[in-house]
Amino acid sequence: MTSTLNPIADDTIANPIATVPETAGAELTVPLVTGESVGYANFDHAASAPCLSSVRRAVDEFLPWYASVHRGAGFASQVSTTIYERARQAVHTFVGGRSCDSVVFTRNTTDSLNLLARAVPRGTAVVLFDTEHHAALLPWRGHHVRRLPAPRTRSEAVTAVAKALAECPEGPRLVVAAGASNVTGELLPVAELTEVAHEAGARIVVDAAQLAPHRRVSLRELGADYVALSGHKLYAPFGAGALVGRSDWLRAAEPYLAGGGASKLVQGKETGVEVVWNTGAERHEAGSPNTVGVYALGVACTELATQWQQIEDHETALLDRLTSGLAEVAGLRVLRLFAGDGQNDQVGTISFVIDGFQPNWVAAVLSAEYGIGVRDGAFCAHIATRRLIGDAGGSGQQALRVSLGLGSKEEHVERLLRALHDITQGRT
Ligand code: PLP
Repeated sequence: MTSTLNPIADDTIANPIATVPETAGAELTVPLVTGESVGYANFDHAASAPCLSSVRRAVDEFLPWYASVHRGAGFASQVSTTIYERARQAVHTFVGGRSCDSVVFTRNTTDSLNLLARAVPRGTAVVLFDTEHHAALLPWRGHHVRRLPAPRTRSEAVTAVAKALAECPEGPRLVVAAGASNVTGELLPVAELTEVAHEAGARIVVDAAQLAPHRRVSLRELGADYVALSGHKLYAPFGAGALVGRSDWLRAAEPYLAGGGASKLVQGKETGVEVVWNTGAERHEAGSPNTVGVYALGVACTELATQWQQIEDHETALLDRLTSGLAEVAGLRVLRLFAGDGQNDQVGTISFVIDGFQPNWVAAVLSAEYGIGVRDGAFCAHIATRRLIGDAGGSGQQALRVSLGLGSKEEHVERLLRALHDITQGRT
């Protein structure tokens, strides 16, 4: 097969087709326990979002071309290098990056936050809530960590962070905060947290794994210092993510991985091997990069950036129906971090418990009898989930989570609500 992909000659190739995003996942059918098939109602977008059709087409076109980036002289290497660096620019634009910001490609948000944990200056004090996703909660071992108990309101969150920063010893400080909770979908007050962090001379990293697929994130507008994201939550396939933010700490840090690409010059000396490391993003991208994944991430970012209004309108309409429908299911209690502030500012993710029903059993019935995929468990945010279940009067450690995305349809929401009524009324 001859591919026509030539990004060097054709400037439009790296720009995906600007249509309303379609998702591949929405077309899937799944078997039911009865032997029939039904269209898959995927309510697990918060875990991973199915690939946009435009991303799939772009990747398909790129596959015959991928080659070594930054090094090979051959045409395919030039194509790959161009595409890889264009994706870097696309991600930079997607998060409203400034000239002082680097885009380092990683595997995912977990990798991005671990990279930052390795790059912050020695002795940095890290301030975060204990309700963070484990990817944000756990990488800071070895640093001075102030873990704050979960606040009841957004303003309590801001006050608690300001107070903790004031109590930290002098020296570099970093606030770590999710843009949106992966358990409740609620938005964190990241603009206000950025303000108090900066007033105290601290930096802030926004874990945008759950925010970036739903709302525009702009480092420039927020003033935040770093943002971490995952391609597979942004309607691209697995394997590529990014850390974007101020380059000074990244430039000064030891390379995240030691190896080719990170090193500019390596010389054998009597005393050992002497290395001059690169100072740009490559410093932290040793080894052959995931060129295809990075390309997919860049295409997804470019596509989503043209669709914010449609994305918000689509999700808000479904979320409203979902919220009002769930309120009518007997014994169902929605988990909320900020129950105290009466604002419903959230993305399309909702977790809940149902009195008298085990979440894993409900999830299995939804899948086998209705073709509905939800998540059950503690969502890699054990402290948050357990505490909120306790607040909701549940005795267990697990909950159910439904999360909307571009593949969600009105019919999926109606099917889910009908199924939950059936289950709670013993009709299954
Ligand atoms: N942060 C949040 C808020 C998440 O929801 C997740 C994943 O669900 C992560 C970080 C980790 O993302 P990844 O598994 O892509 O590294």
